[in-house]
Amino acid sequence: MAGNTQAARPRIELYSDTRTRPSAGMLAAMTAAEVGDEQAFEDPTTLALEARVAALLGKEAAVFLPTGTMCNQIALQVHCRPGDAVLADKSAHIIGFEGGGAGATGGVNILPLDGVRGVYVPEQAAAAIPAPGNRYAPRVRLLEVEQSANLGGGTVWPVETIDALGALAEERGLALHMDGARLMNAAATLGQPAARIARACDSVWLDLSKGLGCPAGAVLAGSQTFIAEAWRIKQRMGGAMRQSGYLAACGLYALDHNIDRLAEDHANARLFADSIADVPGIVLDPTTVETNIVIFQLAEDAAMGAPDLSAALVQRGIRIGAFGPTTMRAVTHLDVDRAGVEEAAAELRALLGG
Ligand SMILES: *Cc1c(COP(=O)(O)O)cnc(C)c1O
Repeated sequence: MAGNTQAARPRIELYSDTRTRPSAGMLAAMTAAEVGDEQAFEDPTTLALEARVAALLGKEAAVFLPTGTMCNQIALQVHCRPGDAVLADKSAHIIGFEGGGAGATGGVNILPLDGVRGVYVPEQAAAAIPAPGNRYAPRVRLLEVEQSANLGGGTVWPVETIDALGALAEERGLALHMDGARLMNAAATLGQPAARIARACDSVWLDLSKGLGCPAGAVLAGSQTFIAEAWRIKQRMGGAMRQSGYLAACGLYALDHNIDRLAEDHANARLFADSIADVPGIVLDPTTVETNIVIFQLAEDAAMGAPDLSAALVQRGIRIGAFGPTTMRAVTHLDVDRAGVEEAAAELRALLGG
């Protein structure tokens, strides 16, 4: 492995559901893929994935993209002109984790709303939309929801809230965008089809490289007109690909094999939360865990802070992310089983002196 300094993979990887590796079945689907030139619409596997996701999300059309970040950035640019604004929860991925892309590539302002665990209510959005004719405030063009809300702790937006935001958007002439990085997780929790959850949304995407277990890829969906514009920006941003069918085949495999099992990840996340909630120094209400994300705090009198605890866990082959001095996030996925989660909880307890 000369020149390859890949870090050792921890035995129990709870840092993120992005850390999954393709299964043998997925790799087999990949090597069997029929491919062509994607940007000339000649890659049959990519076209099949796009049609499949458009149907899954209840939209007219879809486009395959390398990442979820690019889905968000393209959607912002299609919906907004430079100087326009989007309303999003203060913890939104588009605010804190996309390298300032909204401003840099779209000239788009993001006005943060003070939601609870990543979820705001329609009244907050309505209050933040400037009155018609107001030339001082930026023109709000877009409402954004993140399903599930990552830094909210995997919180699921109720369908009624999304519908109400859709009605508000329609009334005020705005669009509604869903960052659906973990939409399928939310769908598992809600017991509702993804298309129903995203019905009020003008654009929506899902990530293939998170809980669905693919090595890369995301699919953005919307109307024919929206997707035609999205393609223009995809080309501009360097997102147009060639034999992307090898990646799209992973996506098709994931839709067939990795959706029904998401409930298992949710049960493991809840088990983990239940197992650590009474550890001295941990502040966590396990009933807030709705999907595959467990965010917990370390109290002032905890045996150690988040970075030290994270480092000590790595020594034991367990990775749980430190998100600041006292905040930690654990994410379950298809490469961690119940026994792994139980072991991680036991080690955490031992380290914190429980
Ligand atoms: C991961 C994530 C993204 C970005 O997806 P990438 O495929 O990593 O670019 C966007 N939004 C949310 C909520 C995410 O969790």
